[in-house]
Amino acid sequence: MDAREVALQKAYDHAVRWLASLPDRRVPARASVDEIVRALGEELPAGPSPPADVVELMATSCEPGLTAFPSGRFYGFVVGGTEPAALAADWLVSAWDQNCVMRTVSPAYTAVEEIAGAWLLDLLGLPGDSSVGFTTGATMANFTCLAAGRDAVLRRAGWNVARDGLTGGPGVRVVAGESRHMAIDLALRYLGLGRPELVRADGQGRLEPDALRRALTAGDSQDPSPTIVILQAGDIHSGAFDPFAECVGIAREAGAWVHVDGAFGLWAAASPRYAHLTAGSADADSWATDAHKTLNVPYDCGLAIVRDPSALRAAMGEQGDYLIQHEHGDPIDKVPELSRRGRAFTVWAALRSLGRSGVAELVERLCRHASAFAAGIADIDGATVLNDVAFTQVCAEFGGDARTDRVLARLLDDGTAWISGSTWHDTRVMRISVSNWSTTDEDVRRTLDAIRRAAAAD
Ligand SMILES: *Cc1c(COP(=O)(O)O)cnc(C)c1O
Repeated sequence: MDAREVALQKAYDHAVRWLASLPDRRVPARASVDEIVRALGEELPAGPSPPADVVELMATSCEPGLTAFPSGRFYGFVVGGTEPAALAADWLVSAWDQNCVMRTVSPAYTAVEEIAGAWLLDLLGLPGDSSVGFTTGATMANFTCLAAGRDAVLRRAGWNVARDGLTGGPGVRVVAGESRHMAIDLALRYLGLGRPELVRADGQGRLEPDALRRALTAGDSQDPSPTIVILQAGDIHSGAFDPFAECVGIAREAGAWVHVDGAFGLWAAASPRYAHLTAGSADADSWATDAHKTLNVPYDCGLAIVRDPSALRAAMGEQGDYLIQHEHGDPIDKVPELSRRGRAFTVWAALRSLGRSGVAELVERLCRHASAFAAGIADIDGATVLNDVAFTQVCAEFGGDARTDRVLARLLDDGTAWISGSTWHDTRVMRISVSNWSTTDEDVRRTLDAIRRAAAAD
């Protein structure tokens, strides 16, 4: 065997051991950053080491500092896990090492990106001729879509931002709900658009259509500013969805570009039981979502979807002299990066493995577990579930901020599960996000037992 094969075999052995440890290992990491630094050693070696030894050192030194993110009992943030076919495909992506930029140079990648893109539009109920770009995550997917929107609304106002920049051009109004994700503010900041104007949301985080109408009619109706309206599918605390049918109509009347941030929530559209939550969102102009959350492919994989392919190409297209460009467009025309890894391979593998019914069943299973958590927590003395559990998110408090924080701390100590604390409507909450394909009823039962133990201690 050559050195590569030995190193790959080592990596395989450690990967399999790690995956086998997930059902029973403590979910939080056991070691601190400093301990891992000590185990790895800080000195840059003077010369080469055999690749397999390096893999061995990394795997054994880092193992205690790994959090079991792929565990069925990790409910922090909204992270997703890794579908088996997508994980294995991801290894091939590294071995193949394709630079996924141009159609003529990366035919296999381009084919897979095109097939996966068409499947995604079908599953998410979005217009079939939309353009689908594969980004690092939803932050960059939001950025990419909003860049297309910014350029398009300025173009309509007679301003060419690609040539002339933003300085001296018409101001762009960006209107978003109070409860938008912080990734929206980051994307707008990167785009030179500053902070969004905020519109009132209800207690679940759903944007209020009347407030949106008032905000959009407040401007100069003779000379309306170029405007972008940002809606949300899936609030990170409540899981709530904006009332799209009404809001998209109001935004369109005002001539706005309508964008939907559906990092984890847009996937509701893939389930006949939950698709009603996204009703009306397909009439927007652009949609950002993650494949590394609800679809459960490995990091990093977000999706930037734009109804008008020419708007995306105008914002992201490249015209380098040395590129060999194709009349059908290239993967490079849809995302900010030039060189990048073959992200669509893992999406294709997950979708090919799950099929239409598998994706629907995945969404429904996550929601079912969230409902089970809500029911179990509601039965605990002093605990209250604060949100309408309409999707995958559960927020609960345990009789005051101090007790909620104590319960969270004891739960982390216990190690059975990992759940985030957060502050929602000025109240400390336990926030459960169910986003991992591998979570079982037994995982939910064991986690509820751990929550009960943590709550029973005071
Ligand atoms: C996770 C999330 C994002 C950011 O996505 P990343 O993939 O972490 O960049 C944006 N919006 C919402 C609603 C999210 O849940």
